[in-house]
Amino acid sequence: MHRIAVIDKDLCKPKNCSLECIAFCPLNRDGGRCITLSDEEDRSKAIAVIDEDICNGCGICVKKCPFEAITIINLAEELEERKVHQYGQNAFRLYNIPVPKDNAVVGLLGRNGIGKSTVLNIIAGLLKPNLGRYGNGEPSWDEVIEHFRGTAVKEHLKAIAEKRIRVAMKPQQVYLIAKVFNGTARELLARYDENGSAEHYAKRLALHESLERYVNELSGGELQRLAVAVAASKDVDLYLFDEPSSYNDVYQRLEVARVINEIAGKGKSVMIVEHDLTMLDYLSDYMHILYGEPGAYGIVSDAMSTNTAINEFLQGYISTINVRFRDRAFRFESATSGEDLIMEEVVAEYTRIEKKRQGFRLVADCARVRKGEVVGIVGANALGKTTLMMMIAGVDKPDDGEFRINARISYKPQYLEQDYEYDVRTLLSEAYGKGIEGSSAEPLIVEPLRLKKMYDKIVKNLSGGELQKVAIASCLLRDADIYAMDEPSAFLDVEDRIMIARFIQRFVKGQGRSAVIVDHDMHMVDMVADTLIVFTGIPGKEGYATGTLSKRDGMNLFLKGLDITFRRDEESKRPRINKMHSRLDRMQKENGIYYSI
Ligand code: ADP
Ligand code: MG
Repeated sequence: MHRIAVIDKDLCKPKNCSLECIAFCPLNRDGGRCITLSDEEDRSKAIAVIDEDICNGCGICVKKCPFEAITIINLAEELEERKVHQYGQNAFRLYNIPVPKDNAVVGLLGRNGIGKSTVLNIIAGLLKPNLGRYGNGEPSWDEVIEHFRGTAVKEHLKAIAEKRIRVAMKPQQVYLIAKVFNGTARELLARYDENGSAEHYAKRLALHESLERYVNELSGGELQRLAVAVAASKDVDLYLFDEPSSYNDVYQRLEVARVINEIAGKGKSVMIVEHDLTMLDYLSDYMHILYGEPGAYGIVSDAMSTNTAINEFLQGYISTINVRFRDRAFRFESATSGEDLIMEEVVAEYTRIEKKRQGFRLVADCARVRKGEVVGIVGANALGKTTLMMMIAGVDKPDDGEFRINARISYKPQYLEQDYEYDVRTLLSEAYGKGIEGSSAEPLIVEPLRLKKMYDKIVKNLSGGELQKVAIASCLLRDADIYAMDEPSAFLDVEDRIMIARFIQRFVKGQGRSAVIVDHDMHMVDMVADTLIVFTGIPGKEGYATGTLSKRDGMNLFLKGLDITFRRDEESKRPRINKMHSRLDRMQKENGIYYSI
């Protein structure tokens, strides 16, 4: 075994503790220097440093640290040889690296902070792997290539180092594009258009009406699709897409998936990171699972078939190497609907309503929300989903029709505010109305969402996924009858999406509350919703909302509009998109069964 010690730099605050890790380390007490401070002069700048060669893994520092900033893990010795990169002392490290395949889409599946973006950056040549020799002893490209001799990785890295391969990368954070490019969408496309296809992709990705706008005026979804179009219109050998679904609705996700598929169809290599399981499944020809401990280390599995990879990921067990990386397996019953647990009591209802905005009209059929019910809302962007949510929440009023709502609403918006200088504990306490620590809400909400160890983190430093979970917890901590959430899946990894979906179901049923949830991740909707409201219409012009339909009818209607059919995976029971025009797709369409339970 060899030991790795990882310090969370955001949590380690030597100026606010009594240096418990150093005081209690048995090796330090014997006069050794296992744990020291990075800056012995100035404690406000310092963090703890653990010497991994000396540390015996007793774990006392892990328990004593008041901020839970230390992680110590024992790993198999053999793994050390497969170390590809380490960001620094007591920092994240990556083991193994996948290789792109010609003519194929290779998918990467894993938790946030497990190293997926690190992998893409290395594959793209943006980050030179250091084999664990960070700092002054960094290896040269020649050494790195020599290290991987006899492997397919070597060929790829050699080609990257010698600049024989050209790479296009759609980065994870599309908002950064607006910070570095000062011009219109059309100008950005023109700058990188190498095969004359920018126009074509812009049209397909529904950007043609946004081309004259400045990049910094675009919405998240527009920026995402613009970034995809920019990458797709480069003429290169390898295309990398880091989370291309974020901010997009289902129609846009499908179109992005089709664009990516076409690129691979032209004989190119594609690698993609994605947390929307339905899309990742639909897109990938092969997949790698990344497992380990988020923020501490990540191991890349060998390539597997897509179906095996997803099912084994859900199982938490990789059979070929006999590794269990999660103690629980996720299983889905077909037709997970707790409809029999919904009570008759109506907490909110509305008649047929109409609402006009400049150039936009929403018509919604009458609907009701019952106690214990989770209503899912699905539909394209700009059809009025948020407008309806605002009226349910009582923030806005219809022009025609009537809302009868005898309920308190707690609302989580789609776009989250991050300008908050205080820590998570303070934010959650504000939502709860009193101190969260030690309260009865802690075991009920904070612990199941695994947020306790984030209490000391400053909200403005949180990652997208962490912020989303904090926002969901804040929403649920407010005392309300209806919890309305706009896109809770955004930025969460697959595991958290499943965890949150199940938690919302359990919370609503267990506490006799209700929820209304807008989301674009079909797997998430399938897990969380009892009933559905489906939006159709022309985005930005007119939206039409159905009343509350059964999940089966709602999904059927929605999928029909998308012209796709779902089947159930036999093993995991998760929904899968049928290949267009496949036997199953044709058969299900003939019988009008777009969604199978
Ligand atoms: P993923 O894409 O799977 O969410 P990342 O590759 O972005 O994961 O990050 C993996 C881990 O490496 C995280 O803990 C992250 O904080 C850390 N990390 C990423 N970039 C750096 C860096 N430049 N320096 C130090 N740590 C980093
Ligand atoms: Mg990433």
